Amino acid sequence: MIQGLLDEEKLKLYVLCTIDNDQTNQRRNRSRGQISCMLEITVYGPLELFEEVGSWFQEYEIYLQDPQLCDLDVKYCNPQKLSSDDMDACPMVSEVISRESEVVQLQDIPGRSELLDILTSHADLEETAQPPVICTPLKRHQKQSLTFMLRREQSSNFDGKLDIWEAIDTAQRRLFINRISGNNQAEEPPQSYGGIIAGPMGLGKTLTMIALVATDLDRDNVASIAIDIDENSKPDVSATLIIVPPPLLGTWEEQLSEHVMDGGLKWQRHYSQTKLTSINDIGAHNLILTTYHTISAEWKAGNASIPFSVRWKRVILDEAHFIRNGNSQMARAICGLHSKCRWAVTGTPIQNRLSDLATLLKFIRVYPYNDPKCFDNDITRLWKSGEDDEAVKRLKWLSACLLLRRPKGTINIPPRRDVKCAVDFSAAERAVYDKVLQQAITKIDDALLQNSEVSRSGVYVNVLQQIESLRLVCDLGLHYDARHNKPMALPLTDTVEWSIVAQRTFNAQQEMGPITCSQCFSTIDLSEILLQDMNAQQEPLFARCLQFMCGDCVQRCRSANHPIVCGHIPACPIASVSLTSSALEDIQGHSFPLAETLSITLPSKVKALVTDLRSLPSDIKCIVFSTWRRTLDVVEAGLEGASLSFVRFDGQVPQKDRQSIVNQFKKDPSIRVMLLTLACGAVGLTLTVASRAYLMEPHWNPTVEEQALARIHRIGQTREVTTVRFYMRDSFEERVMEVQESKKHLANVLLSPHDGGQTDDSLGTLQKLRSLL
Ligand SMILES: [Zn+2]
Ligand SMILES: [Zn+2]
Repeated sequence: MIQGLLDEEKLKLYVLCTIDNDQTNQRRNRSRGQISCMLEITVYGPLELFEEVGSWFQEYEIYLQDPQLCDLDVKYCNPQKLSSDDMDACPMVSEVISRESEVVQLQDIPGRSELLDILTSHADLEETAQPPVICTPLKRHQKQSLTFMLRREQSSNFDGKLDIWEAIDTAQRRLFINRISGNNQAEEPPQSYGGIIAGPMGLGKTLTMIALVATDLDRDNVASIAIDIDENSKPDVSATLIIVPPPLLGTWEEQLSEHVMDGGLKWQRHYSQTKLTSINDIGAHNLILTTYHTISAEWKAGNASIPFSVRWKRVILDEAHFIRNGNSQMARAICGLHSKCRWAVTGTPIQNRLSDLATLLKFIRVYPYNDPKCFDNDITRLWKSGEDDEAVKRLKWLSACLLLRRPKGTINIPPRRDVKCAVDFSAAERAVYDKVLQQAITKIDDALLQNSEVSRSGVYVNVLQQIESLRLVCDLGLHYDARHNKPMALPLTDTVEWSIVAQRTFNAQQEMGPITCSQCFSTIDLSEILLQDMNAQQEPLFARCLQFMCGDCVQRCRSANHPIVCGHIPACPIASVSLTSSALEDIQGHSFPLAETLSITLPSKVKALVTDLRSLPSDIKCIVFSTWRRTLDVVEAGLEGASLSFVRFDGQVPQKDRQSIVNQFKKDPSIRVMLLTLACGAVGLTLTVASRAYLMEPHWNPTVEEQALARIHRIGQTREVTTVRFYMRDSFEERVMEVQESKKHLANVLLSPHDGGQTDDSLGTLQKLRSLL
């Protein structure tokens, strides 16, 4: 039959031979000296033979299938298919292939190990009875958490059970042994009440804390708590002070209304215009809600404000990692509050380094680890000197005493499956990528040759832009705008030029890790920036030598008429940068791809996304996350082309429209997809109606990804959740994925040499980046 085709000179045949991979077949055949394989033959020929070829195959009872490969991109017509007589209506072979052939290959990602996984050691706890004023039935893990917390709010009897100190009575005297360090002392150690609640996001921690406050109504454990001498002068109040980032004020109030019986608990804000004016205001309430900045500002203004004039029953910090810089004004303010019990609630008690934990211990006043030096001496030092096993043993005991963490696995919500999807560049995309890659390598090698910090940082700014470009090519493919990288045409002064690229550089820099203020050493981290109250803040400044000055310090310097300079001579240009989500998800200087070109050639990654979306049952709703709005623009074009309805939520959507977009996504069954920027996805939204999430590109900071994925994988989710991470095969993104998956991240956390101080990290970062290219 094939000979018959070969005899017709006007026909051209392309043959693809695939070896059969079925092992059993192979073994059987190999013994007979044979290998089975599959032949795919594509027939190309002139239109005049069209009918004839069709009927010729028919005689052999062979039916022509759509092509799997595009060896030659011409019009595709199948004579055995009915609708193919109009040549003009026929698609090109390449279109048929992109539409039909691909099934997106998904590969499971092994679970990421976290430091806290080593530390979790809580066996089954008893369940505390549901407090009567809580109308929502508490889940098992929430009742267990209550048991843990109530136990921690009672005085220790030093019996050696889950306590740092144990009393040993000898014939002569009583000795108190520190079970972590082995040290002992004769004096009874001061007690601390409270601890750290460290479950992952989205598992009902807010309700658990509300339930804890509700237990105050049933019991009176005030008497069991010894009063610190230095706090004697402050009048006791029976209310709990809740400190949260501003976007969570509303979340707490909603949860209180939803879960507490009418009138069961009384609460009030201490924020902005609604401030407590006298101590008597507190008496009528069970909870007072305020923000970190409010407390920090009042502390700075002097201790006369209401929150500092009383001794609270309890202080609860939500998103407590806000205070992890022990030296910051905010941390000092929060630690200065008077309270009987103190709780730190956080998804990430250790974000960048072990000392993050030290600040939380200082807040809880866990003797002797309320002094960060003791923590450093008894624990951190051991890591640094390589005594890992002993350090882990000590940390385990410490966390068993103070820290409750319920890993997602122990909680009754459907599982989450993490998969990754490697996408191949098209040949044309690969060419663009390779070009940008070469530029990036040249720039980094350039930078590594610079001797002085200032000249290096100048080139480093360039490097960051190159890296951003590489990531953009991976998302946008041929729609990556090469002009993005061109130097400015006009001769500009340093200052003007810097003010144009400062935001972009800042965005790239802060994505790679926290940025430290050169004045107060507080660090800002993307996962926190997004929780802050932007309206209340002065914009920070960023110098071309990468020195950063936080908004608080800028304000302080300005009001004191201090000149703002980086200290280099001559001074480096300085520009202000914005921390709003709208600024962080923007790519400046990149023009929008034309709609017409988009409909023809979608970037390979977006094609893969559309293919996967189309393969899903119609009742599955999905969220598509990207760092940049620009990527979402292109995804939008892809969804339109595929007639998939969607809504979109990013930093440019006005506050007043946001809720209705979320509602539309939740309620309209025809809307299958929500496009969301990571910056907007980090806070506050509950999107459990969706059960599949796509991350369009790997992010440097896994915490930011987790915050976003917690929008869908949280209490209230009823289906198994799947998360899909796209990356381009054999590209920079693939390296970033490898770093994320390896334990390197963990090692960095533990061994990070710099602790709050200001160091020039750019050299280290450059070397790290170079190794990834
Ligand atoms: Zn500062
Ligand atoms: Zn400078």
